[in-house]
Amino acid sequence: MTLLSGTTAAGAQSVDWAVVSRETLAHLQRMIRINTVNPPGNELDVARYLDSTLKAAGIETHLFEPAPGRAAFVARLRGDGSRRPVIIMGHMDVVGVERSKWSVDPFAAEIKDGYLYGRGAIDDKGMLAANLQTMLLLKRHVTDAGGKLSRDVIFVANSDEEAGGDYGMGWLVANHRDLIDAEFALNEGGRTRIVRGKPLYVAVQNTEKVPHTVTVTARGPGGHASVPLAGNAILRLGRALAAIGKHREPTHVNATTRAFFGQLSTVWPDQGERRAMADVASLDSGRVSRGARALASTPVFDAVLRTGISATIVNGGIRSNVIPTEASATLNVRTLPGQSIDAVVARLRRVVNDTLVELTVTDRGEDAPPSDFSSPLFRAIAETAKELAPEMVTVPYLSTGATDSARLRQLGIQAFGVLPFPMNQDDEDRMHGNDERVPLQSLDFGTRLIYGTVSRVAR
Ligand SMILES: [Zn+2]
Repeated sequence: MTLLSGTTAAGAQSVDWAVVSRETLAHLQRMIRINTVNPPGNELDVARYLDSTLKAAGIETHLFEPAPGRAAFVARLRGDGSRRPVIIMGHMDVVGVERSKWSVDPFAAEIKDGYLYGRGAIDDKGMLAANLQTMLLLKRHVTDAGGKLSRDVIFVANSDEEAGGDYGMGWLVANHRDLIDAEFALNEGGRTRIVRGKPLYVAVQNTEKVPHTVTVTARGPGGHASVPLAGNAILRLGRALAAIGKHREPTHVNATTRAFFGQLSTVWPDQGERRAMADVASLDSGRVSRGARALASTPVFDAVLRTGISATIVNGGIRSNVIPTEASATLNVRTLPGQSIDAVVARLRRVVNDTLVELTVTDRGEDAPPSDFSSPLFRAIAETAKELAPEMVTVPYLSTGATDSARLRQLGIQAFGVLPFPMNQDDEDRMHGNDERVPLQSLDFGTRLIYGTVSRVAR
């Protein structure tokens, strides 16, 4: 596996990548050793580390404390203003750990067998380290070396991404919108995937599904459980949920998923799946449904081809001998971008077909326009990836999960999500799990991917 062939853009000749590799690793280790499990977060110490590191390099910084111990951090390298800024962002908080399930101390940043272990190694301190290194390299090898940037490069580190973002991106947008005014943003949210031992593709998230909550409430006559009633609300709810479980939303291929499957079909190792991907990407409706049927056995592929409905909570009953008058269930519905949640609920009502079962949207997600995957930032990622690993393809990607990028897209910023570290499924699954780790070679690749991308787009 040669992940590091080729060179990157501006300044590449003078960059000593062996030195950079040690530096990036040291920054990441320092950040992992600062425990930022959210709650409570305590991101301020990481922000101070970023602040002092960038300041020492002569880079402009802004450190805010939205709440005690929490932090919002912005740094900026000035361009000549001929183009609008690009943001590189990451979050400083991490999710908790099940300490007994880890084979190493999650906050020791231990190196073992070519991996760096630690909570946050891939989500999202690894990206913060790659972004930090990118700022330092741009300063050292471009602006200080007499070179010029065509746009400002803005580094953003947020708090509270893992717990709603009240002290994170939302706070920054509400309080310092001027500092994050940009044409492009590079965020977390994509994948760089190794399949069967080979680096195969860089999936760059340019759009995401929209999360909604729908409550299903069944009503019926109450009474003593010794006299069974046909209209029992719990049984009614059960029938409604069974019908919803059988229902599948229609297949819908949008521009992102068409390009995703179309390009993946050129490199995918399994022949059957490769054909199914090409079918889905075709404009022939017969082939599309055949391909979608074949891909449905992989839940994550199925989830990008249609609106998804997951039952997540059931509620009902108070005592074992009382028939309740009401029972309810919560559905987590993720609509494809541009699709109406009301239309989905109308279809579900027809499927349930029971006037005593009510379906209401209790929490409505906000849609955002997709970012353009023929834009200069997307091209810069693709070109850099090609240079680093010629066998890889870069594909646009619709994520099933929601990210901060939606908030930026609503503001008119073209946000893209990456996870720049090539990993196999097993390593990727450790995100939010046990023994989270990043392959050291992938950390280098990720740093070069971010640096190469930003230097291209800000040239
Ligand atoms: Zn994250």
